[in-house]
Amino acid sequence: GGLVVSFGEMLIDFVPTVSGVSLAEAPGFLKAAGGAPANVAIAVARLGGKAAFLGKLGEDEFGRMLAAILRENGVDDGGIRFDDGARTALAFVTLRDDGEREFMFYRNPSADMLLRPDELDVDLIKKAKIFHYGSISLISEPCRSAHMRAMDVAKAANALLSYDINLRLPLWSSPEEAKTWIMSIWDRADIIKVSDVEFEFLTGDSTMSDETAMSLYHPNLKLLLLTLGDQGCKYYTKNFHGAVGSISVKPVDTTGAGDAFVGALLCKIVDDQSVLQDEKRLREILRFSNICGAITTTKKGAIPSLPKEPEVLALLKGAKEC
Ligand code: ATP
Repeated sequence: GGLVVSFGEMLIDFVPTVSGVSLAEAPGFLKAAGGAPANVAIAVARLGGKAAFLGKLGEDEFGRMLAAILRENGVDDGGIRFDDGARTALAFVTLRDDGEREFMFYRNPSADMLLRPDELDVDLIKKAKIFHYGSISLISEPCRSAHMRAMDVAKAANALLSYDINLRLPLWSSPEEAKTWIMSIWDRADIIKVSDVEFEFLTGDSTMSDETAMSLYHPNLKLLLLTLGDQGCKYYTKNFHGAVGSISVKPVDTTGAGDAFVGALLCKIVDDQSVLQDEKRLREILRFSNICGAITTTKKGAIPSLPKEPEVLALLKGAKEC
């Protein structure tokens, strides 16, 4: 199978041992590996695909722990660099009773922000059939330049470029700055995934109309995806658009649902990109991807709940679209 190379941050989330508390009220925290691009790589590998993760970790116990988690999950970690001066990034995350996620980041700067262009594993990027990334790696130098160069290398090697915005506003100096940089690489992507919240942030349209979605379309884009939580997703291509429902589940922790969704999609298209022009087959893949997202919400943590193929197929057979 073709290789998916995922670029960006990997970090440790510290999650309260009890649910529904603020960070200040939390009696204790459990560590959980995270970072959307790393989750996507593991999601691909969990489904039987070939995946590599590219980024920088601290030369510390947490950094080595994260690299080991990638390897244990079958993800190629050969592109990881270790910084001996900066720590692996940490984030304290809690889901409050009102359903809002509260983040507190330790990045001052963290190792992921310090990846330099000359540290890129260019040979690995050249092997990618799909090159996937988000926007957190655009926030500061030198990682921003490394990100730009990695995209150049991937594009020149004819990889499909996949962009999951993964907006984390508190990490940017201002919303305007976030929007400017997020949009600065917009036209380069072949596939773009935005969540409902990101859609409203970028367009100002809370109704998520098809018209506004089409305004986000650029001439080279092959697929625009809008994820809608329990409502499934919407898809837009040059020739067709529509919506695909998810399945009904009891969510426990939604962390990683979007990453599971993206990982599943990339895994399914990496060896046959012609599905992007075939609405019927694309809908089947999105149905599969929605179920992967849904499953991920039913257990605590992102990585432990990323599904294997048989689990998804069982639900795919049983469930009616809702
Ligand atoms: P994240 O929450 O990981 O930052 P996101 O906002 O992009 O990412 P969601 O829209 O929450 O992700 O989820 C991605 C996909 O997973 C959805 O499009 C949907 O198909 C599925 N999904 C998520 N939550 C649920 C749910 N409660 N019930 C059913 N399916 C869900």
